[in-house]
Amino acid sequence: MSDNSYNHMCLSVLGNELRLNIIASLQTKELSVTDLCDQLGKEQSAVSHALQQLRHCSFVDYKKNGKERVYFLKSKIFKEKNKPIFELVSEHVQTYCKGKH
Ligand SMILES: [Zn+2]
Repeated sequence: MSDNSYNHMCLSVLGNELRLNIIASLQTKELSVTDLCDQLGKEQSAVSHALQQLRHCSFVDYKKNGKERVYFLKSKIFKEKNKPIFELVSEHVQTYCKGKH
């Protein structure tokens, strides 16, 4: 498969306002699902579903804090806020997603 078909799959995960907002929130700090719901003003079911998709693509992951899941930005590439999104996605694919979709 060409590089662009991988880019396409990761881009489609990002092509959603809620998922992009979650990434933006996690660029600043680690957050629980409840924190994310409060911050973004969204239902828990919507946020959990979005997190599941982001996790599948290695953008985020979580660690357990008691019963709570605390999410963090797994893709260190996305900590660079000032790079163009296309560049970020290409690097993300090469590092985390190539051959895994
Ligand atoms: Zn991916």
